[in-house]
Amino acid sequence: MRVRFAPSPTGHLHIGGARTALFNYLLARRNNGTFILRIEDTDEERSTKESAQSIFESMKWLGLNWDEGAMPEGPEKGKDGPYVQSDREALGIYRKYADQLIAEKKAYKCYCVHEKYDEERKQAEHEKQGSRVSKCGCRNLTPEQQAEMEKQGRKPVVRFAMPEEGRTEWDDLVRGHVSFENNLLADFVMLKASGYPTYNFACVIDDHLMSLTHILRGDDHVSNTPLQVQLYKALGWECPIFGHISMILGPDGKRLSKRHGATSIGEYRKNGFLPEAMFNYLALLGWSNSESQQIFRPGELEQKFEVSGCQPSPAVFDTEKLIWMNGEYMRMLSPEKIMEYAMPFIKEAGLDMSKGPALLDLIKLEHEKFHLLTDVPKRLDFFYKDPVYDQEAVEKVFRKPEVPEILKGISELYSGIEMFKAENIEPATRAWAKEHKFKNGQVFHPVRVALSGRTDGPTLFKMIEYIGRSETIKRLSKALEMV
Ligand code: GLU
Repeated sequence: MRVRFAPSPTGHLHIGGARTALFNYLLARRNNGTFILRIEDTDEERSTKESAQSIFESMKWLGLNWDEGAMPEGPEKGKDGPYVQSDREALGIYRKYADQLIAEKKAYKCYCVHEKYDEERKQAEHEKQGSRVSKCGCRNLTPEQQAEMEKQGRKPVVRFAMPEEGRTEWDDLVRGHVSFENNLLADFVMLKASGYPTYNFACVIDDHLMSLTHILRGDDHVSNTPLQVQLYKALGWECPIFGHISMILGPDGKRLSKRHGATSIGEYRKNGFLPEAMFNYLALLGWSNSESQQIFRPGELEQKFEVSGCQPSPAVFDTEKLIWMNGEYMRMLSPEKIMEYAMPFIKEAGLDMSKGPALLDLIKLEHEKFHLLTDVPKRLDFFYKDPVYDQEAVEKVFRKPEVPEILKGISELYSGIEMFKAENIEPATRAWAKEHKFKNGQVFHPVRVALSGRTDGPTLFKMIEYIGRSETIKRLSKALEMV
């Protein structure tokens, strides 16, 4: 089995692309196959090296290591290179097959259009009408007529001569039998006027020359597949097996896009998601196993991925579920690993940890409550800097008339505790509350808000221990001034 991911480097790796890459990766691993990465940069205007780098980086981050193909640095891997289509174009790989098809009258030069704008407009019109570009007449030009066109300085595109009758069909791994009427298929452009190949043409040549056995891709390509199947036929090549995985919708039922929030893998990385959780979550977008398992151990999906588990109906991207899953993965990580992963986020939050409690102790304290890596600095920042008082908390908790007496009393109490440890702070605080006829909550809440600025957080007495006596007393007096 040889499969590939063939991104166009026109932007970052998005959820949909990452899911396609992941399914191909899993398919290869499950079947001891080869996973290939090919860069499809035939869109000369929109493709950039930076996008290719960004795609490489996101794939590496997700752990989607490829066996052959373009590499972020160093030479390419594999015997079927180059794996970047512009490099292949420079070698004349595509031109050769276009010439062959022209010679066999399976493709023709079309002179109708030589301005890019016209070309796109004409293509769009034809697609709208479901009519065929061949009606322009260029399909039947004599060599003399062609010479005349060229004398006028017209640069032709090369179009595929689509059969006018019959149907094009294939058995799709995900969608079952698919069939198109040939008279609705366009004489699509194979080579642009610049001589550059189009996606449909380059894709078929490369999928064949790279001996790909299975093409698993997004269902936005279903309408390209009949064109590609016809190309295989015209070239006398065997078709690979196709599978078109379901589209991904946002919670509103519309195709997932920017307006649903973060869409690129890089953004999820920046927002504190773990690669392991993303990997697991993406696998469930349009795929499930018979037990509807949700969480997979490392390496388990590579063993369990069956293409029969791909559902043709659309998948819905559910950020809440992804966050939940990330939390599950956070809990599976050791506190040491969380500390390592969270370090860039802590640095970004500007926390100075040279003073204050040991970060690892705090991570252990809050381990159960993290959903995202960004929660680490968010939940722990007040240990390292002055608390930022949440207005709502201040109004709700500090407004009570007994608060000044409590803050003052607790402050005095704490300066007298011998060993400033949770196991001493807790009974002393409770005893003070009882003695002054307050309920525990009446005392605990304002103390918590005074020390952390918020109403929820780590277990109170450990929190107080880690903040330390002098800082605790300092914050209590500051809060007293506020109230
Ligand atoms: N370059 C195409 C894309 O990014 C690849 C489609 C395919 O897998 O054939 O959509």
